[in-house]
Amino acid sequence: MAERTLFQKIIDRDVPADIVYEDDQCIAFHDINPQAPTHILIVPRKPIPSVDEITEEDEPLIGHLFVVAKHLAEEEGLEHGYRTVFNCGDHGQQSVDHLHLHLLGGRQLSWPPG
Ligand code: AMP
Repeated sequence: MAERTLFQKIIDRDVPADIVYEDDQCIAFHDINPQAPTHILIVPRKPIPSVDEITEEDEPLIGHLFVVAKHLAEEEGLEHGYRTVFNCGDHGQQSVDHLHLHLLGGRQLSWPPG
């Protein structure tokens, strides 16, 4: 059996995390190394490694992740805006091979990213 990713271990409750939301499709928890006052990761229960491995059947799931992000942004009081990011692969600096949507906000973010 393939080695479980860190985020799969969080989903399985084998690694602790500061979980802020979960449902039958995804789980959301605070990033351990926050890059903004609000930095939440929204992770599908389905172990899709990255954006590169998303298929047509995942379209409703990916949309759901954004709906959850929007609700969490509202809960976090991010009325001035926020950023949602999927890092992908080496150049995208993805470090955990389990798809996750970053929700960042609570300060003025700059563009372009590094
Ligand atoms: P990425 O670099 O896009 O793959 O994002 C992975 C994110 O996971 C980084 O922002 C890390 O800070 C975060 N991270 C790593 N380990 C943990 C953990 N145990 N709990 C919560 N977030 C984590």
